[in-house]
Amino acid sequence: MGLLYLLGIIALASCSRGTDAQPKASFQSQSLMRTAPPVPPEAATSDNAPLPHIDSKRAFQYTREVTAFGPRYMGNANHKKLERYITDHLKGDQVEDDAFTADTVEGKFPVRNLIAKFPGTKDGIIVILGHYDTNYPLRNNGYVGANDGGSSTAILLEFANQLRGKKNDGYSVWLVWTDGEEAVKTWSDTDSLYGTRHLAEKWEKDGTLKKIKALMVMDMIGDADLNIDRDTNSTPWLLDLIYAAAERGGYQSHFYARQGAIEDDHIPFVKRGVPSADVIDLDYGYNNVFHHTPQDTMDKLSPKSLEIVGNTILETIHLLDQR
Ligand SMILES: [Zn+2]
Repeated sequence: MGLLYLLGIIALASCSRGTDAQPKASFQSQSLMRTAPPVPPEAATSDNAPLPHIDSKRAFQYTREVTAFGPRYMGNANHKKLERYITDHLKGDQVEDDAFTADTVEGKFPVRNLIAKFPGTKDGIIVILGHYDTNYPLRNNGYVGANDGGSSTAILLEFANQLRGKKNDGYSVWLVWTDGEEAVKTWSDTDSLYGTRHLAEKWEKDGTLKKIKALMVMDMIGDADLNIDRDTNSTPWLLDLIYAAAERGGYQSHFYARQGAIEDDHIPFVKRGVPSADVIDLDYGYNNVFHHTPQDTMDKLSPKSLEIVGNTILETIHLLDQR
């Protein structure tokens, strides 16, 4: 996952919420109240359909299997095995790839975004992304990226299971396993987000971007101590809709206790005006000590966290379909 600025600012809403709650103009920082952020009235609608549920045990098993490949940086043998693992799980689905060569400060790397498309009846697309690469600079230190790279790969595979073979009366849903999210040396605008920078440009040219109703990035969502951050680079109404979905599942205590500006795979799309949200927990271990270290292993993760995020995002899709 990406770089973070300013995280750690405690900024919580202190607005009161109710059926007639109006959108709140701004947060009051340093508030000690842990109450809900503003939800636009149009975002709070619900048809009271039963909450969707992922199979979190299966998603956790996927995370374990992905992590077991070991380091998975762009183009290495483990990465190729993982590409096949993903495409094997998408047999029978409509799958495309966006493959190219990235020219980096560490040389040329093959990059391959994998895209699975699940058609709906409504005109428009909801895109869910998650990166599957691990860091090239960490390739020789035992780093396996269980949470950072593993959990995002796995939750998308489980979303595919949930979307496959079902009649979808809503928007089409596209799942994108992104590649080259991580920097090959030091995070910067030019050394990061190789896959999504390419994909956003491609989709701008071919007109796809205009059809995207919402785009959500899953990253580091497996931490047993789950605290999804409120990313100020994301689109506020979409963050609020995700929160509304979390509330329906009773999961809201895991969302938005902290806020800050986060750079992740959504940024190339944010820059092009696509409504986008980064769903990420950048508080991974005390002071984020497990992040980008060999300590990012399966024992830090929980199926419950995958369930919280998975169910919330499926419900968010449901709420988007009703808008
Ligand atoms: Zn990372």
